[in-house]
Order: sequence, then C-alpha cells, then structure tokens
Amino acid sequence: MEELYRANFKQAMLLPMPEKTYAKLNKNDEYTCLTVRSGIINKHFTPQQFALLASLAEQGAVKYSANHSLLVSVKTEILPQIIEQLTVVGLYVVPPRACAVLKCCDFCDGDRLEALPIATELLNAFEKIPLKRRIRIGFNACTSACYNAVQDDVALVYHRGHFDLYAGAIPMGRSASSGKKILTRVPEAHIEEILSVLLELYNASQTEKFSTFIKRTTTLEGQLQRKLHQLAEGGQI
Ligand code: SF4
Repeated sequence: MEELYRANFKQAMLLPMPEKTYAKLNKNDEYTCLTVRSGIINKHFTPQQFALLASLAEQGAVKYSANHSLLVSVKTEILPQIIEQLTVVGLYVVPPRACAVLKCCDFCDGDRLEALPIATELLNAFEKIPLKRRIRIGFNACTSACYNAVQDDVALVYHRGHFDLYAGAIPMGRSASSGKKILTRVPEAHIEEILSVLLELYNASQTEKFSTFIKRTTTLEGQLQRKLHQLAEGGQI
C-alpha cells in the first residue's frame, strides 16, 4: 500500500492547473457560477449527482470551494434547465443573493437526529430570507460542533433541547477569529424568536459587515437576554 500512496503523491505533485475556470470561460461566453451542495444536511453524493456534475464539468467547470461547496460554472442562457436538472438529482443550489443561509452539520451521517425537528423548523423559517448581506448560520447538532459553526456569522450549537448562540466570526483574512458566545442554553422553543430579533436588529442597523455589527452593538447581549427572559415568562416585547 505504501508504494501506491507514494505513487499517488507523486502524481498529485505534478500540480496541474485548471484549463477551464469561471474567469476563462467568461471571456468567450456568459457563465453563471452556482454554489451547489450534496444536500442541506446530507453530505454524501449519489452516482446520479456525480453523473450530472461530470456532464457539467464537460460543459463548464466544477470546483471545490473553501466553504465545503461545489462552485459550478454553467452557461447563463441554460441556467433554468441546469437548476431543474440539479433539483431532479437532489443537489441543493445555495441562493445567489443577500439572504440568510443555514450551514448544517450532517447529524453524524443521520445517526444523531435529536435536533432534526428544530433544524427543519429553522430552515423553513430562515433559509433565503432577504438580508443586507449573505449571513451564514451554522447549525451544529451537538457540542462537538465538528462542522465549525463558530466560524460562521451566527452559530447555533445544540445540546439536549438548548442552544448556545455565537455570532460575529471573521472566517478569513489576517483578523480571522471565531464568533463570540452571546447566549447560552437558549431553549429550542425560543431559538427562532431570538434569531429573528438578532437578524432584524442587524438589518435595521447602519452597519453592513455582520462581524462589525456584533462588535459595535454593545447592547446586543442585553437586548437578547431581555427578549429571552420575556419569552420564558410567556410575554411579548
Ligand atoms: S456537530 Fe455533532 S451531530 Fe453534527 S456531525 Fe458533528 S459530531 Fe455529529
């Protein structure tokens, strides 16, 4: 086996560069780059999905992204047909606009489904809602948080019917840092309301960058704590 791995490494070290990229393709025609995932929770690809991706790689380009998605460059004139084909094989197209996007873990390949009902509820409530910028909401279904939710704009880390909520990560660049823990042990019955308040406050603010909004809004934790307290007492704001 060692010899095979050595040969494999040698081949990889030829460091091939791509012939077709989004930028190169766009020089001769109009292409759109779609962010595509194997599913919203499932991370395994099916043969049908790979067959379609192989065909799309022939026609355009398919690239793996730093954000665990595939970037699929397709001719803009056939975009509707391509989205239909992706839908048929169950590939998820992340909305290409400023909106909330949930980034879920895979629930241990579907073996730990305790948090699935609340994840489904949050997906229905928040996925694609328009915001000033695209805001990634990481949903990790246990405290191992192995899908690095704390590196997303907002992180929801589930544990036995409650969530710890983090926000304001800077995922890349020289100032990269994890999100700050804003609330602990938010009961799952109240997380949708709390998340709504957080996103509404952000959208109403004068600040574009989400991490800057979290840093500058010194009253945020207090506002969310008060809301949580009111919800716990059955009141409304
Ligand atoms: S965050 Fe927890 S439940 Fe989700 S995939 Fe990782 S270990 Fe499994």
